[in-house]
Amino acid sequence: MTASSYPGEVSGEVPGEVPKEGFSAVPGYGDLVESSPDALLVVAEDGTIRMVNTAAERMFGYLRGELVGSDHRILLAEGFRNGLERLFFNLRRDAHSHAADVDDETDTAPVEAYGVRRDGTEFQAEVAGSIFVTGDGTGNGTGNGAVSMIAAVRDTSHRPENDDSLREAMSLLSATLESTADGILVVSSEGEIAGVNNQFLTMWGIPREMLATGDDEAVMGFVVDQLRDPAQFVEKVEALYADPAAESHDILEFRDGRTFERYSRPQKVADQVVGRVWSFRDVTAAKVAQDRITRAMADLAAQSAQLKALAFRDGLTGLSNRQLFNDSLASALAGPRGTAVDVLLLDLDDFKEVNDILGHHAGDQMLIEVGRRLRTCVRPNDVVARLGGDEFVVLLVDSVEPEAVAARIVDSLRLPVWIDGTMLRPSLSLGIASIGEAAVDASELLRRADIAMYAAKTAGKNRYMRFQPEMMKALVDRNDLEAGLRLAVDNGQIAVHYQPIVSAGSGTVTKVEALARWARDGVLVPPKQFIPAAERSGLIVEIGTEVLLRGCTELKPWLEEDSSRSLAVNVSGVQLQHGDFAELVLAVMESCGVDPRQLVLEVTESVFFEDDCHVIQQLMSLRTAGVRVALDDFGTGFSSLGRLQGLPVDTLKIDQSFVAMINTGTEQLPILNAMIGMAHGLGLTVTAEGVETAAQAGYLMNLDCDSLQGFLFSGPQPEAALQPALDRAARAIAALKGVRVPGNR
Ligand code: C2E
Ligand code: MG
Ligand code: MG
Repeated sequence: MTASSYPGEVSGEVPGEVPKEGFSAVPGYGDLVESSPDALLVVAEDGTIRMVNTAAERMFGYLRGELVGSDHRILLAEGFRNGLERLFFNLRRDAHSHAADVDDETDTAPVEAYGVRRDGTEFQAEVAGSIFVTGDGTGNGTGNGAVSMIAAVRDTSHRPENDDSLREAMSLLSATLESTADGILVVSSEGEIAGVNNQFLTMWGIPREMLATGDDEAVMGFVVDQLRDPAQFVEKVEALYADPAAESHDILEFRDGRTFERYSRPQKVADQVVGRVWSFRDVTAAKVAQDRITRAMADLAAQSAQLKALAFRDGLTGLSNRQLFNDSLASALAGPRGTAVDVLLLDLDDFKEVNDILGHHAGDQMLIEVGRRLRTCVRPNDVVARLGGDEFVVLLVDSVEPEAVAARIVDSLRLPVWIDGTMLRPSLSLGIASIGEAAVDASELLRRADIAMYAAKTAGKNRYMRFQPEMMKALVDRNDLEAGLRLAVDNGQIAVHYQPIVSAGSGTVTKVEALARWARDGVLVPPKQFIPAAERSGLIVEIGTEVLLRGCTELKPWLEEDSSRSLAVNVSGVQLQHGDFAELVLAVMESCGVDPRQLVLEVTESVFFEDDCHVIQQLMSLRTAGVRVALDDFGTGFSSLGRLQGLPVDTLKIDQSFVAMINTGTEQLPILNAMIGMAHGLGLTVTAEGVETAAQAGYLMNLDCDSLQGFLFSGPQPEAALQPALDRAARAIAALKGVRVPGNR
C-alpha cells in the first residue's frame, strides 16, 4: 500500500521524510504543491496545521499565517470535525502494519466532509490524507520523529450528487446530538462504532484518540472497567445484539459512585435494523438525592418505631405502660372464644411510706426492682405493665396456672430489697380476674381485678385473691360506709368516748384520750373501719374538729380541777395537710376556754414522712402555744428510733403490739428497754398503750415507763360513764403501786 489515500497525487515516499523547511525546500516539489488545485495542509499529530499551500488559502479564505499554528478543525463544519482524526489514525495503522496488500479501502479512502470558509460559508469537500515523518522517525509512528499528515482537500460542491438538503439534515442531526445532555453512541450491526457525540466521550472519559483508533474492543474494555458489574453490562449488550429489534432501559453503577441510565434502541433505515443507538444519562445527582431521601425515610421510620416503642414503655421500669396493656388486653379479648385471659392487678403495700421515709429515689429503685422481679415470674411473652404509681398489672393469655403465677409474684418479694444500704421488706396485694363463661369486657375485667386486690388488702395484705362476686358486696359496703358516715357527721351522730391514762409516778389519772365513736343503727362501727373511710373522703377534718370540740366541752370541768390534767386527741395526717389546722385548734381551745397546755395531740409517725415542712411548722407553732404532741402507735410501720431526734414531739406512745409481747412479766424484751431508754434520752415521756394485765403494767413500770393506758385501768367510756372509769383506773394503778386511793372499795 501507500500511506497516501490519493494515489498518484500527493503520494510522496512512504514512509518518508519531508524537510522541515516545507514544501518549497524540495526543488520542484514546492512548485508542484503550490500549483496544486487541491488545498494541501500538513497537519501534526495534535491536529495543528503546520503548513498550507496557496490553494488552501484560497479555498478557505484565510491567509497562510493565520492557518499555520491553528487547529485544523476550524476548517471543518460541525459534525465533520472528527473525520480527519480517524483518517489520520487509519493511515498510521496501515503504515505500521506495512500490509499494503490488504489495504482497507474504506478506512483510508478519501472522506466526505464539509469545509468552512473564513466567512462561515460551508462547502462540500473530499479529503484525502497521507502520512509522513519529520525528524529521525521511521514513519511507522513508533520512532522518535513526529508523524504528520498531508491532507488534500478538494472542493466538490460542483458535483451533481451534492445534496444540500441532505447536508442540512446532517447538520441538524449533528447539532441536535451535540446539544443533548445525554451521551450517545451508535454502533453498527457489525458491532463497529458508527458515531458518538462529545457528551458520550466526556461522560465515559474516553480519550478522543482511543476512539479515533477504531479499536472498538479497546473502547469496550475501557468502558466496562469503570463499572461495578462489568459482567452484567456485557451480558446485557450481548442479549441485545441477539435480539436486534429489542429496546432496553437499565441502570449502570460505576466504581467511582456515579450512576448512569442506559437506553438502547435499534437504529433503523426504512424497516431494516442497521445498528443500535445507545444513550446514556448521568443520573448520579438524582440517585444521590433519591438515596438521601430513602435514607432519611428509613431514619424517620426507625425513629418513629423508637418513639412508638417509647410511647408504649414505662419510662421508669421499662415495662409496658397502660396504653400497651390496654391494647394487649383488647386484642386478647378479641381472640378466639375459649382463650383463657387472666388479669393480675397488684399494688405494693404501704409503698407511700417507703417514698416518704427514704425519699423518691429509693421509691423509684423499689419500683424498678419490683418490675424486675415481676418479669421473672411470668413467661417471656406475657405482658407486665406498670399502670402508674406502685400499681402493676400482668396479662396472662392461655395460661393454665394463673393462681400459681400470682403465688410466685407474692412470693417474689419474700427476699428483702436492698436500697441504698437499707434493707426493705416490701409486700404486695394482688387481685386476679379472669374471663369465664360470660363475656366480660376489658374495663369490667380490670374492675374485678381491682376489687379482688382491694379484698386482698383488706384481708391483711401480702397475698393474692381471686375475684368472687361477693367481693362486689364489700365494695358496695365501702361506698355505703362512706355515705353513712357523711350522714352521721351531718347529723351530729359522731360521739366521743374517753379512756383514762394513768401516771405511774403519781399513781393518778393525769390524762384522758378522746376516741371517736359512731353508732350506726345502734351498732358501734369500729374506728379502724370508719376512720380510714373518713380519711379517704376527707370527712376526718370535720370529725377531728368535732372530737376536739366535744372533748374540750365535756372534759372542761375535769380539766379545770387540776391544771396538770390533760386531754389527748387523735389527729390524722389529712387534718395536718390543711394550712389553718393550728389556728383552728387554738380557736377551738379558746372558744371552750381550755388552756392549750392541757391539750395533747396524738399523731402517727407517717405525718412526718411528707417532705412538707409545713406539718412540722404547724406542730411547732402549736407547741409554742403550749400544746403537747404525742407520737402514737410507735414501733409500727417503718418507724425507727433514729428518726425521733428533732421531731416536735413530747411523748412517745408505745404501740400495743409491743406491750402484748409481755406475757409473764419475766421475759427479756430488749426492744422495750431500748425504746423507753431512747425516748427518755431524748427528753420524751413514754406512755404504753394496750396494757391489759398487771404483769404488763409491772414490767413497764420497772422500765420506768411514765404512763400506762389500757383495759387494765379502763376501756374508753362515754362522758356519762367517765367518772366511774376514772375511779376504776385510779384504783388499778394504786393497787399496782400498793397505794390506797380515796373511794377505793
Ligand atoms: P389509738 O389512738 O392508738 O387508740 C387506742 C386504741 O386502743 C383505741 O381503739 C382503744 O380502744 C384501744 N385500746 C385501749 N386500750 C386497749 C387495750 O388494753 N387493749 C386493746 N386491745 N385495745 C385497747 P379504738 O378506739 O378502736 O381506736 C382505734 C384507732 O382509731 C385509734 O388508735 C386511733 O388511731 C383511731 N381513732 C380513734 N378515734 C379517732 C379520732 O377521733 N381521730 C383520729 N384521727 N383517729 C381516731
Ligand atoms: Mg391515740
Ligand atoms: Mg395507739
